[in-house]
Amino acid sequence: MTRKKILITGGAGFIGGNFVQYMINKYPRYDIYNLDLLTYVGDLTKYRDLEQKDNYFFVKADIADRKTVLPLFEKEQFDCVVHFAAESHVDRSITDPEVFVRTNVLGTQVLLDAAKHIGVKKFVHVSTDEVYGELDFDPATFFTEETPLRPNSPYSASKASSDFLVRAYHETYGLPVNITRCSNNYGPFQFPEKLIPLTISRMLHDEKVPVYGDGRNVRDWIHVYDHCTALDLVLHEGVNGEVYNVGGRNERNNLEVVKTIIRTLGKSEDLIEFVTDRLGHDKRYAINPLKLERLGWKATYSFETGIAQTIEWYLKNKWWWGNL
Ligand code: NAD
Repeated sequence: MTRKKILITGGAGFIGGNFVQYMINKYPRYDIYNLDLLTYVGDLTKYRDLEQKDNYFFVKADIADRKTVLPLFEKEQFDCVVHFAAESHVDRSITDPEVFVRTNVLGTQVLLDAAKHIGVKKFVHVSTDEVYGELDFDPATFFTEETPLRPNSPYSASKASSDFLVRAYHETYGLPVNITRCSNNYGPFQFPEKLIPLTISRMLHDEKVPVYGDGRNVRDWIHVYDHCTALDLVLHEGVNGEVYNVGGRNERNNLEVVKTIIRTLGKSEDLIEFVTDRLGHDKRYAINPLKLERLGWKATYSFETGIAQTIEWYLKNKWWWGNL
C-alpha cells in the first residue's frame, strides 16, 4: 500500500472523529491530518489514546480562512480530502443562520479551491439526506440520488449549496469529487445536544427528555461505524463525480427512539416531555442506499444492535460526555 496523505476536516467532531480513528487503525501507512477549528462542539479529548500515533497530525484552522488553508495545502500536498467540517445542528441554524453559510458554503468553496490548486486525487464531500427535503409517511417512498434537492432549514440549505459547489468544481474544472448524503447518525462521541445522546444523558440523570411535537417525525438511523465504512469505500472506489446515498434501512420515529432507550435503561416513560415542535420540522427522511450497496457496502448494525452498543458506550464513557 503506498503512503498517502489524507486531510480530514472536522475530525474533532462526532462523525469526523470516528472516521479519523477508523482510518488511523485501518490504514497505518496513511498520514491522517485532522483540520478543525474546535468550535463549541469540537473536542480533542477523544484522541487521548491516539496522540502518540506517528501517522496522526492535528491542525487548528478555520476552513473558511483562505490565507491559512491554501498554504497548508501547498505545503502538505494532500492526496485526498474527506470534508466533514460544518455547522451541523438544525436548531442552531434556525436561530443563527449566518455562521452556517460562512462555514458550510464559503468554507467548502475555500477547500475546493485549495484542492483544485494542488490537484488532489479525490475530494469526498460529506453531506446529508436533509438536502432532499422531506418525504410523507408512505413507506414505499425513499430518497434516491436523483431526488431533487429541496432543503427546508437554513442548515440543509447551506449543505445543499455546498453540494452544488462540489458538483460545479467537478463539472467545470474536472476535480475528482464524490458527494455522500447520509441519514441520521448515532454512536460513540456524539455531542449531547442531538436526540440520542441527549436522551441517554438525561435519562441517566432522571431528567425530563424533550420530544418535539407528537414525536412522529421519522428518521433513517445509521450507526456511525457504518457511515465510516461507507466513506472508506467511496474514498477508494467511488466513481468520480458521483453522488452516493448512505442509509441503514432503519426508519424509526423520534418517540420510538426515545422509548427504546427508556426500555434499555429501565426508566419510566413519565420522563418524556412533549415540547413545541421545531419550526419547519421535516416529517420523514428515508434513504435508498442501493447504489452504494452495488459498490460493495453493507450496513453491519441493525437499529437494535447499534443502539445497545451506543448506550453501553455512554454508560462506560461518562469521562467524555459528563463535562460537555
Ligand atoms: P459535528 O458538529 O459533531 O462536528 C463538526 C466539526 O466541524 C466540529 O469538530 C467543529 O469544530 C468543526 N468545524 C465547525 N466549523 C469549522 C470551521 N469553520 N473550520 C474548521 N472546522 C470547523 O458534526 P457531525 O455530526 O460530526 O457532522 C459531520 C458532517 O457530517 C457534517 O458535514 C454534517 O453535515 C454531516 N452529516 C451529519 C449527520 C449526523 O447525523 N450528524 C448526518 C449526515 C451528514
